[in-house]
Amino acid sequence: MAAEQLRLKESRFEFKSISSIIIFTVIVIKIQSDMKQNYRTIDQAKKIIAQEEGVVRKNWGGKLPVALVWPNSYRVGMSSLALHILYRLFNDEPDVVCERVFFGYQQAPGRNEPLLSLESQRGLDEFAAVAFTISYELDYFNVIQMLRRAGFPIFAEERDESWPLLIAGGPAVYTNPEPLAEIFDAFAIGEGEAIVPPLVDALWEINDAPRAEAYQRLAEVDGLYIPALNNGPVERVWIKDIDSLPTATQIYTAQTEFGDRTLVEIARGCGRGCRFCLAGYVYRPMREMHLDTVLSVARHALKHRDRIGLVSAAVSDHSWIDQIATELRQMGARLTASSMRVDPISEPLIKGLAESGNQTLTIAPEAGSVRMRKVINKPQADAQILRAVELAAKYKFPQLKMYFMVGQPTETEADVEAIAGMALAARKIFPRNMAINATPYVPKAQTAFQWAAMLPVETLEARIKYLQDRLNPNGVTVRSDSPTWAAVEGALARGDRRLGRVLARMRKINLREWQSALATQGLSQEDYLRERQLDEALPWDVVNSGVTKAFFSWDLRRALRDDLTPACPPAGCLKCNACDEEWAFRPDYQDALGPNLGAYGDNFIPFVS
Ligand code: SF4
Repeated sequence: MAAEQLRLKESRFEFKSISSIIIFTVIVIKIQSDMKQNYRTIDQAKKIIAQEEGVVRKNWGGKLPVALVWPNSYRVGMSSLALHILYRLFNDEPDVVCERVFFGYQQAPGRNEPLLSLESQRGLDEFAAVAFTISYELDYFNVIQMLRRAGFPIFAEERDESWPLLIAGGPAVYTNPEPLAEIFDAFAIGEGEAIVPPLVDALWEINDAPRAEAYQRLAEVDGLYIPALNNGPVERVWIKDIDSLPTATQIYTAQTEFGDRTLVEIARGCGRGCRFCLAGYVYRPMREMHLDTVLSVARHALKHRDRIGLVSAAVSDHSWIDQIATELRQMGARLTASSMRVDPISEPLIKGLAESGNQTLTIAPEAGSVRMRKVINKPQADAQILRAVELAAKYKFPQLKMYFMVGQPTETEADVEAIAGMALAARKIFPRNMAINATPYVPKAQTAFQWAAMLPVETLEARIKYLQDRLNPNGVTVRSDSPTWAAVEGALARGDRRLGRVLARMRKINLREWQSALATQGLSQEDYLRERQLDEALPWDVVNSGVTKAFFSWDLRRALRDDLTPACPPAGCLKCNACDEEWAFRPDYQDALGPNLGAYGDNFIPFVS
């Protein structure tokens, strides 16, 4: 019996020893593989930096370290002017060192890929503040994955002052921060130029203060929403002068879509009032970079690249657009344009784009029928759209792209048929490659359609399929985003605080996981996509993006009667509340204004003081 027990003990000891060896080996392998992965990521970061021009390298000593995070790939992030301007704004502060962090260098980084800053390859937890810029709701999934990879507790209440402060900005959260309200410590509501300097002062003062104290100090900064304090509604902040710090590419690299050009923001905001357009409302009022500033920025830019990408909500609306196009061409610049209107069309711009070797001319009618274009307040006439197509043919663009949306409020099958009709009419004029984008419409917070229901996925799919069947045989390619993912985007865009728990539950980014996390939290996607009542409290009431709710509801009623709302005049208006008195009654606006008054249409009423 004793011998039996001894054997049993020995075998237990052997078993324990073997298990210990296995555990030890697994730990060693894990450490080795993590180290390998670290080296690989560090190596990759160094290679990327080596290919960049304009990167800022600062000594960390005595400075406030801020991580600027883009929750998507390097390629996508470096194509965004917002990232460039924030990088400059933070690094322009002498006592700040700002470094970039991306979701990954490829589209889908490995789960164990460490999250390191590009410039000095440091972990997120080494920074005093981590500032995310988020322009797209579906990137919320990446935000969670990044926090997890960096080892951060997901919810703000689980992080004490030993963790960096997490701050989010960008149009997605600026219009509705609530789905991420339990995750971030603060949200920047408004434009970076107005928020960064006072934010930096506050961060210096906060230092290692307990969270409750830090929140109180942050709440003193105009434009910061602190969910833990429920300090809403927070007024957005904006800048009037876009000439003093021109927004243009800061870091050049071949590894982005726009690596061959300098992007220059020639105007911010848009006064046209397209009712579906988030950027059109939240960046009101339209502010133009003066012709002289555009030319001076271009002179500097041409030392880096011979191509200049003109960026604004509607490039052809700039009151000096013909002069900009002509003079930049004379300086030897090749031009590209982010988007343009066809009312009026700028032939010098189209000619300049063609001569610059652009392969594609893109126009955005958004809707096929005149009725639908009235509903969305984009009243371009069929003849104006087809005139743009004629110019695309005349200047021999190899490709024509037309952007449409399907599923906008009140859309019927006849409106979808009108998209096909418009595309076929264009096809008769334009003989080369032609494609249309039929994008599922997603109602967004802080727009006139913020109360509208989103069409069911099946209806969107059927309408897109109809367009494919009608147009593909006629040589028109039809592209679209996934209606299923558009519905997820719709839920997040008009979501509430409860969605933070859903996002935090998800270990993988896929639809099944999303649906199951929603169900576990007792929530349904349909509830977020439904029509809202005009008098209903909305989750995004915690921010005031400039345009009042009263204006939006007035504008929505007009939409439902097919009534147009005039575009903004250049001055003298306080109707939607986005302009303040100082801006609306600025005395020198007429001197700054160029001859292209197309942006102001018939609304151009000179202001007389
Ligand atoms: S206040 Fe008037 S001019 Fe200013 S953005 Fe609103 S509608 Fe346009």
